[in-house]
Amino acid sequence: MRIHRYVSLTAAEGPGQRFCLWVQGCPHHCPGCFNPETWATDGGVEIAPEEMLEKILAVRDRIEGITLLGGEPFEQPGELAWLCEQVQKAGLGVLAFTGYTLETLKARCDPATDRLLRQVDLLLDGPYIQARQDFSRPWIGSSNQRFLYLTDRYRPEEIAACQNRLEVRLGKDGVIQINGIAPPHVLEALVAKLTEPEKK
Ligand code: SF4
Repeated sequence: MRIHRYVSLTAAEGPGQRFCLWVQGCPHHCPGCFNPETWATDGGVEIAPEEMLEKILAVRDRIEGITLLGGEPFEQPGELAWLCEQVQKAGLGVLAFTGYTLETLKARCDPATDRLLRQVDLLLDGPYIQARQDFSRPWIGSSNQRFLYLTDRYRPEEIAACQNRLEVRLGKDGVIQINGIAPPHVLEALVAKLTEPEKK
């Protein structure tokens, strides 16, 4: 499978602490997308699903579940279905974002897509539409996007109570990574603060 990056522990991409996986490759090209570097299908890195599972299970006692986002997870449904089956067997939840609607995914009549959908507890569907920007709900940025509870693992009132947040990580190589969601002006102010020259 081809991925963009992952974070082993985050509280900004779904309920509770989660392992978060950004897959590589997205055909939607939504104007205003926060992750355009995930669009290219030849970007990112290849990783075996078995290796990704090892990374998830290494933190299984510290997470409630995993979150798949992108990129477009449903461009790689076969590998992700297998991964999510193992994750579910370990008792962990699965939250997935997709730029497709659920109806479009079902209309594919594709066994791999259906297999992945069967492993998803909470699906956040639909593309990001800049003209309908709305950050009032957790983790999503436009009002067309839906929270679809495909199992009873999560409850709408529990999800609605979650807050949007940003996380900043400074790598050993000095690279700063930000994840989570916030209105563009908040994100821009944060990036400006993080990159402003140090005052002597
Ligand atoms: S579906 Fe998500 S990753 Fe893909 S272009 Fe739209 S916002 Fe960006």
